[in-house]
Amino acid sequence: MQRTIGLIGGMSWESTAIYYKEINEIVRQRRGGLASADILLRSVDFGYIVTLQKAGDWRQAAAYLTRIARQLVEAGASCILICTNTMHVIADIVAAELGVPLIHIVDVTAAALLAASFKRPLLLATRYTMEQPFYCDRLRQRFGLSAVIPAENERIRIHDVIFDELCCGVISDQSRQEFIDIIARGRARGADALILGCTEIGLLIGPEHTEFLVFDSARLHARAAADFAEGKLSLGAVSINARR
Ligand code: GLU
Repeated sequence: MQRTIGLIGGMSWESTAIYYKEINEIVRQRRGGLASADILLRSVDFGYIVTLQKAGDWRQAAAYLTRIARQLVEAGASCILICTNTMHVIADIVAAELGVPLIHIVDVTAAALLAASFKRPLLLATRYTMEQPFYCDRLRQRFGLSAVIPAENERIRIHDVIFDELCCGVISDQSRQEFIDIIARGRARGADALILGCTEIGLLIGPEHTEFLVFDSARLHARAAADFAEGKLSLGAVSINARR
């Protein structure tokens, strides 16, 4: 019997679709036949979330996502995933209110980097994720990883492409080339791997666009959920509330 996965998605739905497909594909690969994942998906209105992000109203965002996480647990979810890097800024607050593990996207991504012996990953993400301490501090303090952060003009461009293009379903060759150039500059500054630290970037950049080994947070997070469903995830390193 699989455990039920609770997904808080819609941030944006373009990337939540990746989670849904990836988790189900892994379960089918492993179990064969008509097997599919047992998922509870709550997909929010991303427009509302972005309003809160722009206002810096993380308190309201935390209250909103906590309410949703609780509803998922009441409905039978055995774990919670927040399907976006950015909103992990309030993951600790959400997790504190739950009686089930919150599988943390930073921890899952960092564990994969560590397992492959990388130390200085280039981080491509929203400005919130690249500039606020919640992501890089966690990488450093819990995993000893030192992220390479793009320059300010590059951060602005990456952020705009995420919100104005990728979250709207627009995939542009010109933006892809700009990302490839930013990645090359990150390599010149000493990065040794690449984190797609925004769940939509995998729609634009893949292993075929760089010499780096690519760590796609959305796919790694989805795989962790599939592992959890089968009792195969070692929760201690990659979740909050592991023992509850
Ligand atoms: N999905 C993106 C991320 O992983 C950005 C959308 C958001 O702001 O939540 O950070």
